[in-house]
Order: sequence, then C-alpha cells, then structure tokens
Amino acid sequence: MKLYNTLTKQKEEFVPVHEGKVGMYVCGPTVYNYIHIGNARPMIVFDTVRRYFEYKGYDVNYVSNFTDVDDKIIKKAIEEGVDAQEISERYIAECKKDMDGMNIKPATKNPLATEEICGMVDMIQTLIDKGYAYEKNGTVYFRTRKFKNYGQLSKKNLDDMRAGIRIAVSDEKEDAMDFVLWKPKKEGEPAWVSPWGEGRPGWHIECSEMSKKYIGDTIDIHAGGEDLVFPHHENEIAQSECCNGVPFAKYWMHNAFLNIDNRKMSKSLGNFRTVREIGEQYDLQVLRFFMLNAHYRSPLNFSADLMESAKTGLARICNAADSLKHYAGAAKEAEMTAEEMTALEEAKNLAKKFDDAMDDDFNTADAISVVFELVRLANSNVNEDGTKAFVQSLLDELLELGDILGLVFETKEEI
Ligand code: AMP
Ligand code: ZN
Repeated sequence: MKLYNTLTKQKEEFVPVHEGKVGMYVCGPTVYNYIHIGNARPMIVFDTVRRYFEYKGYDVNYVSNFTDVDDKIIKKAIEEGVDAQEISERYIAECKKDMDGMNIKPATKNPLATEEICGMVDMIQTLIDKGYAYEKNGTVYFRTRKFKNYGQLSKKNLDDMRAGIRIAVSDEKEDAMDFVLWKPKKEGEPAWVSPWGEGRPGWHIECSEMSKKYIGDTIDIHAGGEDLVFPHHENEIAQSECCNGVPFAKYWMHNAFLNIDNRKMSKSLGNFRTVREIGEQYDLQVLRFFMLNAHYRSPLNFSADLMESAKTGLARICNAADSLKHYAGAAKEAEMTAEEMTALEEAKNLAKKFDDAMDDDFNTADAISVVFELVRLANSNVNEDGTKAFVQSLLDELLELGDILGLVFETKEEI
C-alpha cells in the first residue's frame, strides 16, 4: 500500500509505527459557522482513507479536533451577544449532523481545544525548559531558529522567509520567524490561568498536544488541507519534535482545494456554499460521491452540472444494486452455471483492481471506475434466471466496495 508523503514528496510504502495499527490525526474545523463544502473535502477524503485501512484489517485510532477557541469564534460571539462557548457548542453539533449526512464515521476521539489547555501548558513549559521557547510580556514564542529542521515539510528556507518579513522596531520577538505558543488575555475574551499569566494558547500547539495525548509522540499519519502545510503543520513539527525528542509524524497527507465554478471559494466572492445548503438540494451521499470522483491531491471544481452528473452516476450504481437485491430475493437455489462462474471470476478480478487503485495512494477516482465496471458486468449477466449464489455474490461485492468508499448503494426516497 503506497501513499504520497508531503514530507518526502514521493509515494512511499506504508509501514505502521505499531504493527496492525494506524494512528492518524486530521486537523478539524474552527467552529464558528456551518461547515462549507471545502471543509467537507478533508473529512470525506480521510474518512475514506480510514475505512480502507480498516478494510485491510488495521485497527485505526482516528483523532480529529474541533478548534473551539479562536478570534473568529470570539467575534461571532460578540456579534450575537453570547459567550464563545455557546457558539462553538452550537456549530460542533451542526457539524456532526453534516458529517453524519456525509456518512463520516465518528472519530475515535474529537478533542476540544478548550478541554486540553493543561496539556498545552505542560508542552509549552517543556519547550521553555529545553530552551526552545521564551516569554515576553505574557506572550510565549517558539524560538524557530533553534530547530534546525524548520521548513522540512513546506521545503522553505528559513533565511529566505526571514528576508521577506519586515520587523517592527517595537517587535518583542527575538526573530521575525518566531511564532506564538501562548498569548495574553484581552478584555472580554476567554482566558485560562498559566505560569505566564492569564491567556490562551496559539492555534498550532493545540494539534501537537492532542496528537501526543491521544495517539503518541510519533504518529503514523497527520493530515489536512494543503493550506495547512505552512505554517500550521511546519510549526506543529517544530513544537512536537523539540518537546518530545522523536519524529512527529511518519506520513503527511494533504488534500488539494475545492473551488467553485473554477474560482476560489470565498466569502468576498459570494460563492461560499455550506454543506447544509447542498443537503437541502441533494442527498449528501451525492456530495461524497462527487468528491471521491477526483483524486484527493487534484484540485476539484464544484459546479451545479458536476453535481448533477454525480447524482446520475450514483443513481446508476444504486439501481444496479436494487435490481441485484430484487433478483437475489427471487433467485433459485441451484449450482452456478459455467457462465456465472466465469462472470464471478471477472468480478473477483475487479475487486482486485479496486484494491490496486486504492493501494496506489487512495486513487478513489479509479476505484469508482471499477465500481462502474462491476455494474456493467452485473447488468449484462444477471436476470431472473440467475442462481442465488451468483446474484448474492455480485451484490455482496458491490455493497462492500461501496462500504469502503463510505457509500450506501441503495435508492432512497427523493428529497
Ligand atoms: P479551517 O476551519 O479553515 O481550519 O479548515 C478545516 C479544514 O478544511 C482544513 O483541513 C482545511 O485545509 C480544509 N479546507 C478549508 N477550505 C478548503 C477548500 N476550499 N478545499 C479543501 N479543503 C479546505
Ligand atoms: Zn492542526
């Protein structure tokens, strides 16, 4: 099984840290609104990665956080005149409803930043004790230049980056590239007690602490959208490796971005679509199917036309599964015919082809083409004369391939 590792920029054979187990951490959303269809891409992609590992027999520990303290949450809370926790709790609940609609399996653990402050404080203290961090006026900074491997993930050179930054004279940082681990309290904002005064953690330390606590010092896979490579994941590596003294993640996986009508999705362009809106128009399985029709490392364009063709494609598979179910119910218990045995052999080859596609860096686009091949095989070989064993085997195979992709192949009532 091969996957593309952003760290080495090549496809590598997957070798787990602990035999038979996969520990994966996926950066989750900041919860201040309904999630948008861009946020849905890593959820769908990495849920499919998880399902494939499970199908291969691995025991997967899947951890994905909710960032529930952040400037955007605080701003929304002030606008609505409620406290920040009310906002984050509301949108975590809404996000879970959307995830359910997209058939995303519940994570082993969804840690919340606000419940992990103690662990983050401990980590920051360790970094200070080891000389990798320093405090100035209630803010704690990471001493970037002390970490020799900084830039390894994003392939950036620290000196080039530093040259591009203008430092204000008043800047209290030792170096322009130092980043914040802890920031002091501002009036009206949520804050926690720490050795450096009341305040709250920076965003990056959250994921370093949670992956350490819920998976371990070295994890198998760390994942998220490609916008997170720099600075978020680069900073996570620096914090974790300096604190723990061992490599952080063996494999780094990043999904490419989802655009709308060939343009970047953004609030200012007014082309921002939430999963909730799509769910009013379509069964969210169609959204999942649409996303998996592309390789996760290819940019993906969302448009009404493409969603319609995804709907039609999925319906074709569901219709095939419906008729197999129908024929299986009525089929006779008899020995398979020679033709059926040949067709079943072909079906088994297709299952192997499906695995080959998934083994090649989770190529769901090719895997879905194989599902269509199986549908064609079923449509041209099954009728009311089919034997039970044959029809049921084809049906089981089709449903199993669907299950690996997180798709339930059955026709649902129109919504
Ligand atoms: P955020 O709440 O912005 O931190 O995003 C949560 C996750 O969604 C991260 O893994 C992002 O990389 C990912 N993400 C955000 N926008 C998009 C997009 N347009 N396409 C694909 N992934 C995205
Ligand atoms: Zn993260």
